Amino acid sequence: MTNSPFAELGLTDRLVRALRAAKYHKPTPVQQKAIPLLLEDADLLGIAQTGTGKTAAFTLPLLQNINEDGIKPLPSTTRALILAPTRELALQISDSIKTYGFHFNLRHTVVMGGVSQGAQVAALKRGVDILVATPGRLLDLINQRRLKLSECEYLIIDEADRMLDMGFIRDVRKIVDLLPEDRQTMLFSATMPAEVAKLAEEILYEPERVEIAAKTVAVEKIEQRVHHVGKPAKKDFLVKLFDDGDLSKVIVFTRTKRGADQVVKRMAKSGIKAEAIHGNKSQNNRQRALKNFQDGRTRALVATDIASRGIDIDHVSHVINYELPNEPESYVHRIGRTARAGTSGIAISMCDIEEWPQLKAIEKLIKRPLTPVGEVPADFAKPAQGRGKPPARRGPPRRRNRNRNSRQSTRKAA
Ligand code: ADP
Ligand code: MG
Repeated sequence: MTNSPFAELGLTDRLVRALRAAKYHKPTPVQQKAIPLLLEDADLLGIAQTGTGKTAAFTLPLLQNINEDGIKPLPSTTRALILAPTRELALQISDSIKTYGFHFNLRHTVVMGGVSQGAQVAALKRGVDILVATPGRLLDLINQRRLKLSECEYLIIDEADRMLDMGFIRDVRKIVDLLPEDRQTMLFSATMPAEVAKLAEEILYEPERVEIAAKTVAVEKIEQRVHHVGKPAKKDFLVKLFDDGDLSKVIVFTRTKRGADQVVKRMAKSGIKAEAIHGNKSQNNRQRALKNFQDGRTRALVATDIASRGIDIDHVSHVINYELPNEPESYVHRIGRTARAGTSGIAISMCDIEEWPQLKAIEKLIKRPLTPVGEVPADFAKPAQGRGKPPARRGPPRRRNRNRNSRQSTRKAA
């Protein structure tokens, strides 16, 4: 059993067995670096993009540490807290805890909005070892005195940048204030906007820093095509793409919730099974749509960026960008859905002439052009030969650089 590369990181046999059952053969780079540090109780700042295996990187050492502590949770308390920005992500983390913690006898539960709180309250009453929560519902339950965080010795904040996008940073701060200072804290994020760097500085104690460079993400393995399609022609074009049977499990990204609904309608008219997930759908509805898609009952999932973030679905054959995102980073997150943990995939983007600046910004970020398919209409090429004006963005590159400097000045050694 000791010949497992996971055992070499210091993980116990029970975890090694669970990983073997999950068919994990070797740790991903972020796991390789983070696990030994976390087993030694270090605080950690983990920066790595979607699909790099962050969940196991924090869950495995957490399970082992908490099990070794050998303490039973008191009623209405938790010993570890994992904060996630979305309900889908919280449920996924919970599933991972179930998988990795199979041979441990630890209690865990999920607290999130959008579903009735009864079952959540009942689970908390006995006390839990690990609680996965979205910030809003967690604060609700704390205010109702259903839960105390005074015994919580492990804190993990997952997808901190998404917490920021969704306006949760203040809630997160409030929650952190309720934990004992003597705790182990981990913060994970795909990107480091200034606000997240500031939060990290406030809540982590002499953290180790594990950063997996963005370019090591499987983006290179993804075949990235772009079709120049005018906006009015996009729906017909999309439907036509589905004539190709290779499009078996497809996520279609739209920019707006309404757009997502309209696309689903048009696809239904052509007999293509599709469902939408976005913020206006109820929790049950979204769960069902995800499950139908995961199990192959629907061929396409039509999603907005926020709804899709952090969702982990296996074997997505294609990602289609029905519209290009305003933020080039979102493009990378989107297409990352089709290349999870080392598999490759295909990304197809539809670009209207008005989206040309977004296309250029994406190509600049990923440092290579998308492969144009079909003819590029003459009028499309014009803006590119012109000034190649970048789209109006809120200037993330500059902000990121500034962070990097401030981080260097406050941190002793990496
Ligand atoms: P992230 O949080 O960085 O987006 P996840 O933790 O969701 O990534 O992992 C992405 C996918 O990779 C999941 O399907 C997970 O089961 C799988 N995975 C993670 N680590 C490994 C590993 N060491 N070997 C094989 N698959 C892995
Ligand atoms: Mg994750």
